[in-house]
Amino acid sequence: MNQTILVIGAGPAGATASALLRQRGYRVIVIEKQHFPRFSIGESLLPQCMEILEEAGMLETVKANADRLSFQFKNGAAFKQGERYTDFNFGEKFTPGLGWTWQVRRGDFDKLLADSAAAQGTEIRYGHEILTVDISGDTPVVTIRGEDGTSYTETPSFVLDASGFGRILPRLLNLEVPSNFPVRRAIFTHVMDHISDPVFDREKIRVTVHPEENHVWWWLIPFSDGRASVGVVACEEFFAKYQGTSEERWRAILAEDEGLSTLLAQSTVCQEVRELGGYSADVKSLYGRHFALLGNAGEFLDPVFSSGVTIAMKSASLCVPLLDRQLQGETIDWENDYEKTLRRGITVFRAYVEAWYDGSFQDIIFSPKQSPEIKAMICSLLAGYAWDEKNPFNRDAKRRLSTITEICRDTSIETDALLTMEGTTP
Ligand SMILES: Cc1cc2nc3c(=O)[nH]c(=O)nc-3n(C[C@H](O)[C@H](O)[C@H](O)COP(=O)(O)OP(=O)(O)OC[C@H]3O[C@@H](n4cnc5c(N)ncnc54)[C@H](O)[C@@H]3O)c2cc1C
Repeated sequence: MNQTILVIGAGPAGATASALLRQRGYRVIVIEKQHFPRFSIGESLLPQCMEILEEAGMLETVKANADRLSFQFKNGAAFKQGERYTDFNFGEKFTPGLGWTWQVRRGDFDKLLADSAAAQGTEIRYGHEILTVDISGDTPVVTIRGEDGTSYTETPSFVLDASGFGRILPRLLNLEVPSNFPVRRAIFTHVMDHISDPVFDREKIRVTVHPEENHVWWWLIPFSDGRASVGVVACEEFFAKYQGTSEERWRAILAEDEGLSTLLAQSTVCQEVRELGGYSADVKSLYGRHFALLGNAGEFLDPVFSSGVTIAMKSASLCVPLLDRQLQGETIDWENDYEKTLRRGITVFRAYVEAWYDGSFQDIIFSPKQSPEIKAMICSLLAGYAWDEKNPFNRDAKRRLSTITEICRDTSIETDALLTMEGTTP
């Protein structure tokens, strides 16, 4: 088979798609603007993405290198606000499947995946950049600037845009629509954490909610070599109250949380403090004539539930079999089988993200009224299993979260009696 697929970007979406295409015998060219390893944010993975790593023939490679690259075994998520603490163990989730994953430095992780795709026969051109994409003819015409600055064209059978925040096709083809989330920003860095608290669980991401502002939160993502990624997320208006450099603002906000600043009292910053804002994004359509959008090049919600890499890989896993069938002459229902299917899971994450920022998710998880049954269903989402239709919480997430929130907030229900599923299915 000599059909060529051109993939834009060698991040998790691009590398996964490339490996899956190579398994089906296609020639794959990846155009990647940067040289790897390069820094990327998004270090806490979800168990759901392990299944896709396996599908792409990459899981064994990642396992074999996990210790060397200080990937931290991760088995859950912990949430804290003031004295309130709760955690979720992925092993107790409703959906069957792996209950663990890793926390990774993305430069190393992404390079592993890209190298694995290359070992499977993908041609990756680092330092090359997409300039234009013309999809008006019978085959796409892609103009690329090579490392030496000269331009050249490729005429693949199909283009997969996995350019992440580069959002190449959304920009070039005018597909962008504003996200309906307010503009938020993250300030983050890596520290040598020197955490000595024996109760601290390195095997979980720790999400700390600001003591007074429910919509402001910190991530603390430990790696296995004593380092950790520490970042704060808030809306632009909140950050506008703080003056100084990124590091000064990061420190000033950290100081407002007694628990977190005590935990990190001995930590030392070991990387430049960076900022990223306005990352939530959406598009009119995830596919079109001769192209499909993967991962962040399509829709990106929010960092809070660490869903980005999982959605990126899931998009590749859904898209490639459809593309394969199309290239073999079948007519594909991209609208149902790609767009709606991928967005079904994203919509579940969206309901949780909305519940997070209006404070209702916090009211649920810190409430003494939850049942283990409901906790297991929520835990599945936290583990990334947003496409599991057997999970009642995935079928109508927004309404169910809202019903539970009402019960958790209702002070007339004084009993600590656990909520039952009947309470959530009026
Ligand atoms: C603050 C923050 C925290 C986050 N935390 C998490 C987390 O804990 N867990 C998680 O799963 N996700 C997290 N995410 C999301 C995560 O970063 C992304 O969802 C994920 O990296 C998307 O993968 P991707 O393959 O789509 O894109 P990327 O990983 O961004 O890869 C895209 C690649 O395309 C290349 N590219 C761009 N433009 C061009 C061009 N013109 N030509 C050629 N190549 C190009 C880039 O160099 C890049 O290598 C977070 C996001 C933010 C903003």
